[in-house]
Formats: sequence, C-alpha cells, structure tokens
Amino acid sequence: MILVAGAGMAGLVAAARLRELGRDVVVREKGTRAGGSMLLSSCVIWRHRDWSGFRRECPGGDERLQRVVWERLDDAIAWLESRGAPVVWHDTGNPRTVGKRFDPKGIVEALAGDVELRADGCIDGATILCTGGFAASSELVTRYVRPAASLRLRASPWSEGDGLRFALARGGRTGEGMDEFYGRNMPDASWDETQLVSSSQLYARFARVFDDDGVEFFAREDVSWSETNVVQATARRTGARAYYLLDAEALEQRVRDRTVAQMVEAAPAEARVAPSELPFDAPAGTVAAVRVIASITHTIGGLRIDERARVVGTDGLWAAGVDAGGIATGGYASGLAQALVQGLVAAEDVAAAGV
Ligand SMILES: Cc1cc2nc3c(=O)[nH]c(=O)nc-3n(C[C@H](O)[C@H](O)[C@H](O)COP(=O)(O)OP(=O)(O)OC[C@H]3O[C@@H](n4cnc5c(N)ncnc54)[C@H](O)[C@@H]3O)c2cc1C
Repeated sequence: MILVAGAGMAGLVAAARLRELGRDVVVREKGTRAGGSMLLSSCVIWRHRDWSGFRRECPGGDERLQRVVWERLDDAIAWLESRGAPVVWHDTGNPRTVGKRFDPKGIVEALAGDVELRADGCIDGATILCTGGFAASSELVTRYVRPAASLRLRASPWSEGDGLRFALARGGRTGEGMDEFYGRNMPDASWDETQLVSSSQLYARFARVFDDDGVEFFAREDVSWSETNVVQATARRTGARAYYLLDAEALEQRVRDRTVAQMVEAAPAEARVAPSELPFDAPAGTVAAVRVIASITHTIGGLRIDERARVVGTDGLWAAGVDAGGIATGGYASGLAQALVQGLVAAEDVAAAGV
C-alpha cells in the first residue's frame, strides 16, 4: 500500500496516476476537505512560453527540475483533461505563458478517489509527500523567510510544513530559495477565503510604493509582471506593510478587465487612506492611497528532490508540489504546473520502483 500525504493538487494527481497504474493507494488529508489551496485558486495551469523565458524569470531554480516541468506540462494538461477535469479557458490570456484554466472543483471530482480525512495529518509511513509546503506555519515562515512581521495567509490553513519536517528528520535536505515565497499584497483589512483572488492588489506597477516610515522602497519600473518581487520586498518592511500611492494617470490604467480606480474603490474602506492622512507627506499629485500587507500563498523553497521527485538524502521518499523546492526560485512559475507534473512523475517512479 502506498501512502500519499496531502489531497491537494499534487496528492490527488499522484494518487490518481498510481491507481491508473494498478497500485493500491491511501491518501491522507489533514484538512476538512480535499483540494488544498488548489480549490481556492484561479486554477490557471501554465508554463512560460519559451524555455529561455523560464530560465530568465526563475534563474535560481534547478535547471533539471525546471526542464521536467516545462517539457511535460502540455502532456500533463492533456492527461488532466482526459480524466474529465473541466477546462474554463483554453489559453492563459498572457502572451508570456501557455496553459489552461480549469474549474478547481471539477479537478477534485475528476481525481478524487477515497481520501482519508485525519485532523492529526499523520504522515508516518508516507511514500509521497504532497503537504503543500509551510506557508501556514508562522514559526517556519519566521525562521526561513524572515519577514519583518508575520505574514497573513492567503491559502488553505493546513500546510504547516509537516512534509518538510518529516523528510528532514529522515535525512532530507532543503534546496535553494528557502527565504522566498509567492504571495500577493492584500488590503490591510479583513478578508476571507472567498476573496483571496478578487481582493489582491495587483497594480503596484502603476503606483508609488512607500513603507510606514515614508521610505519609497520599490520603484514601479522594477515591479515584475507577476508583482511577486514587490510582495517579497513588502514582507521585509516595518509591519510587512506598504502604501500604494496613485496619481490621476495611474487610476486610469487597466489591469485585465478593471481600471486601477475600480480596484481601489473595491478595496475595503479600512485600507483606503486619504492622502492627507498618510503617516508621511504624500508626493505631489497623489489622489488615492491603499494600505496593503504582504500575504503568503505558498513557499518557494522546499525539499531538494531529483528529476524523479525522489527526496535527496532519503530512502523511499518522494515529494511533489510545494513540498519540493527548486522550480520558481528567484521568480514566479505556476505552482499548479509543478504539482501536476511532479505528482505524475512521483507516481510513475514509485510504480516503476515496485514500492
Ligand atoms: C488564491 C490562490 C490563487 C492561486 N492561483 C493559482 C493559479 O492560477 N495558478 C497556479 O499555478 N497556482 C495558483 N495558486 C497556487 C496553487 O494553488 C498551489 O501552487 C498548488 O495548490 C500547490 O499544490 P500542492 O499539492 O503542493 O498543495 P495544495 O494544493 O495546497 O495541497 C496540499 C494539501 O496537503 C494537506 N496537508 C498539509 N499537511 C498535511 C499532513 N500532515 N497530512 C496530510 N495532508 C496534509 C493540505 O491540507 C492540502 O490539502 C493559487 C493559490 C491561491 C491560494
């Protein structure tokens, strides 16, 4: 019997593939439902269009691992569709990337076999670790990411680093980029699980970005297309907070189907600040300001694995998805693509190894 720990994207994929290959599988899930953060996501599964673009965007990643994800993704997406996972968009709408948007509930329905829900998470005896990294552990985030203040979680609440701890205790090692994370700057106000996508403040490229102390710490021309770099920088400022300051021209800009003005108006009133009420003198021309906080969706660093998803330094242990590092290091890549491809790779290698 093969034990898969975690019934999010990577775990569901690994278990479904193992069943297809005729193996008996138990999937254990610590949360109250299957689906992990995938269920809360926009569910765009993508890769960079060009290999050189991927390397340029994520220069700190392990080239061999990146190659596996990049080369296998299109077939992996076709496999997902062949399982009956419903496609919502047939492209990403972003010229830099190729991929598809799926319906997350449909993925759970297409892949879920029996899932054992166990609040204690119990991963003793696990073969494939798919526990989704350590974003939900403020202790591990403080130790590895070292933000200036605790980061609000923008993901499902159960990924507390269990897979990481389990593998490290068995000889596993961490890879590069343990201090990196993928997240969004969110309004400094209350929001819930249903607003993780709609409340993201994704217009730093048009804003002037100041911290609580009135220091303009990030130039808008340096904001990456995914805005991940400004979020990571915000995490290191006082209170892990920033102010996005906007002039009239910035408010007219568009991000996808909305203007910046519409996004600002949609931000909760607690997070909108009149320029005269900022804790520092606003630059001339500022007409609107939003106080944002860095939030973490998932960690980027994780266990060092090889191309077959085996955890380096251990015997008989595989890791897939966010539990494994080495893909998006230094930049941004699709976490779902990593989870999908590595879930398949791990399952096929476990089956081939005759475990
Ligand atoms: C709002 C939002 C939007 C996103 N949009 C996108 C997007 O459009 N495209 C994209 O590529 N990515 C996106 N992501 C990221 C994507 O969801 C993750 O990269 C992906 O889900 C990672 O897959 P995973 O299997 O590693 O982790 P998860 O899918 O989170 O699954 C991990 C599972 O392990 C479980 N678990 C934890 N500890 C234990 C334990 N001890 N025992 C058993 N189970 C355990 C968790 O409860 C969870 O179910 C988004 C995420 C969020 C939150």
